[in-house]
Amino acid sequence: MNKKVILNEQDDKRQEIITYMKEFSKITPLTSGNFSILSEKRDKLFIKPSGVYMEEICLDDISVVDISGKLISGLRPSVDTNIHLSVYKANNKINSIAHVHSEYAVITSVLFAVIPVITTFHADHFGKEIKIIDWSDLSILANTLAEYSKNESAVLLKQHGLFAWGSNLSETYNNIFAAEECCKIFYKTTLSSIDTKKILTLDKSKILMHNLRFQKLYGNSTKVTA
Ligand SMILES: [Zn+2]
Repeated sequence: MNKKVILNEQDDKRQEIITYMKEFSKITPLTSGNFSILSEKRDKLFIKPSGVYMEEICLDDISVVDISGKLISGLRPSVDTNIHLSVYKANNKINSIAHVHSEYAVITSVLFAVIPVITTFHADHFGKEIKIIDWSDLSILANTLAEYSKNESAVLLKQHGLFAWGSNLSETYNNIFAAEECCKIFYKTTLSSIDTKKILTLDKSKILMHNLRFQKLYGNSTKVTA
């Protein structure tokens, strides 16, 4: 009986990854990028295999690894598996992680030191600037990202790409696409501005107001019937 439950969960998680892979493949080139979800018991990780095109991956290809990183089934897992494991261990509210080399995240990570809040959309989703981590040592990157995951829902890596996480894959997807949108708007705004320091940023009270309104009032979780 237990075995059946575990198998069903494994199929569900792998299918969830396949479904989202089609969306993530639209914004990250070739075989780059990766994403994962944790099992309900937080003892297994379902992650994109290394070096394969997302649109060609089938259910049995998805890498399943235990919490120490040992492969249980599927193809060889992403080279960033240690980063994913480190973030999960640091924050038990995170159940899903994604990493993409999306166009505007990469451009802004090359050009700037931070993505400031210049729109209400950015204020709604993140309530703060998006940090760009200036990293060079791969051996400490997993720990660095684990620390950032405690206070940020999306970060850029200098001259590289974007990491985001969430309580489930849907939230992670929103954080990735919202961050990419913020990077795009900021970059395009700088194109028409002589001095990036003169770009108008939202003041702290306005950021807080929009972020609180978005968190508390936005959306349709309840339905009223007559
Ligand atoms: Zn990368």
